[in-house]
Amino acid sequence: MKNKIIAGNWKMNKLQSQAKQLIEELKPLVKDTENTVIICVPYTDLATAVELTAGSNIYVGAQNCHWKESGAYTGEIAPSMLKEAGVEYVIIGHSERRTYFGETDATVLARTTAALEAGLKPIVCIGETLEERNSGKMEEVLERQIRKGFETIQKQQLADIVVAYEPVWAIGTGVTATDQQAQDAIAFCRSVFAEMYDKQTADQLYIQYGGSMNDSNAESLLGMPDIDGGLIGGASLVAQKFAAVVNAYKK
Ligand code: PEP
Repeated sequence: MKNKIIAGNWKMNKLQSQAKQLIEELKPLVKDTENTVIICVPYTDLATAVELTAGSNIYVGAQNCHWKESGAYTGEIAPSMLKEAGVEYVIIGHSERRTYFGETDATVLARTTAALEAGLKPIVCIGETLEERNSGKMEEVLERQIRKGFETIQKQQLADIVVAYEPVWAIGTGVTATDQQAQDAIAFCRSVFAEMYDKQTADQLYIQYGGSMNDSNAESLLGMPDIDGGLIGGASLVAQKFAAVVNAYKK
């Protein structure tokens, strides 16, 4: 099995002083892990996070970026701006952006492409709603999100992409997918990538699980063969809890 990629999604939380405190607490707690550790912070915390994580094993990510390089897009941030700021990862297509901000598979693809061109590593989120799952449409939805969201992504670019399977019904709800539900969905996603690219590329692709993953369920979720890491919301806001997730898996 691969080492895991554990990313914290702080969402719209943490003033700069709080970010500083959290990062200082986190650094010693995760310093010995062989897993990749990422914190995806609000734009206003990026400079603080980049400065405080310098020389540590923690990478910094943003939570979105635009697909244009510059121009009249008030309120948006270009991938090159993130890159220049020292950011390495960027979350694309989180379900909260799909739900509240009109994100579509087409805009996910545009943002992912632009992020890659700027030298960022996108964490691309996909996942079905409860209604879609209950009506037997989970696989159809995931397949559409993958085929459309990766339509023009080249095979070699997948090495710089992390996919996060996040069932919408499990995000921020405290309801976690069972180990088997997460494993089955991610194995299905991997089979779609294998059809689009090839099996070896799909096997090497990192696919995380996200949705109420925390210090009590991380070990068993991360022990599933297809789960290559976690995208962690709520539990990433507390250093001890996030560190426990990071340290839950040892190869
Ligand atoms: C997320 O925001 O990507 C997420 C998985 O949140 P939570 O862990 O709080 O469910």
